[in-house]
Amino acid sequence: MTRVPSRRIDSVIDAVGNTPLVRLRHVAKDAPGVEVYAKLELANPGGSVKDRAALRMMQDALADGRLTRDKTLIDSTSGNTGVAYSMLGAALGVRVKLVMPMNVSKPRKDIARAFGTEIIFSDPMEGSDGAIRDVRAIVAASPDTYFYPDQYANPSNPLAHYDGTGREILDAVGDKITHFVAGLGTTGTMMGTTRRLKEHARPIRCVAVEPSEALHGLEGLKHLESSLVPPIYDPRIPDEILHVTTEDGWTMADRLAREEGLHVGHSSGANVFAAVKIAERAQRESGGGCVVVIVCDRGDRYFAPMKWERRYVW
Ligand code: PMP
Repeated sequence: MTRVPSRRIDSVIDAVGNTPLVRLRHVAKDAPGVEVYAKLELANPGGSVKDRAALRMMQDALADGRLTRDKTLIDSTSGNTGVAYSMLGAALGVRVKLVMPMNVSKPRKDIARAFGTEIIFSDPMEGSDGAIRDVRAIVAASPDTYFYPDQYANPSNPLAHYDGTGREILDAVGDKITHFVAGLGTTGTMMGTTRRLKEHARPIRCVAVEPSEALHGLEGLKHLESSLVPPIYDPRIPDEILHVTTEDGWTMADRLAREEGLHVGHSSGANVFAAVKIAERAQRESGGGCVVVIVCDRGDRYFAPMKWERRYVW
């Protein structure tokens, strides 16, 4: 067993990042000459890749005065970014308010509230767009009270991955890496990590993952053709985009739990499904390679389903 030395830290914020890479041996067995590594973002203290972006957005705003301790951070997420803001807000002494559609599942409200976050409910009929509109209206009515990070447009989001995720991948696998695979949500992970990997001396092919369908069950990922494209997204950054169906993403998430001991969310299933396709292609074309894929969050976050998720009956 490889022993990683334990470390002592001052605050939970110091536990964000430096996530391990784990070799996937079973799901990629049809590409025996290619090493596939999952970067375990579920090992962040808030349980997801979004700890990185939330921390960097908060730290940069605290550093330049956009965020002060007498302001309240406000945003409209009920997903991983909301958990990250809530956890980090508690650790940094920053008040957090989240606007969520009334019909968001109880556990999602409970996680945020456990950290002391205040929840404001928006019209369930208007979905996440309604929550965004409400946040904008609240901020416009009292701009000095609030800090609105706006993760879709905030350069600190990709920078967290440029300085963190990308550097860590090169530290861990070095010159071996031939491919990188990540999904597109806000697109921060893909933009920032790829920018760093493209500075490497040898070319690394960077592949983005998008849901095949506009209405999909791969939470955290965006179908860009039918969505508002995030201002931080630069279409020149990915070398290739692979489309993955909900079915393939869910099936791979199940396989990762049973065959690799990794119980992950469905966006991670989709990313790994794409990574295995890339590995099989590399095997055919060159007989070898090294693929690094982002595993975004844990599967237990989805035991309490959203209404539209398949397999569960409410
Ligand atoms: N998967 C999950 C589960 C997520 O919460 C997110 C964040 N929306 C992503 C993937 C995509 O990450 P990013 O926002 O950096 O594109």
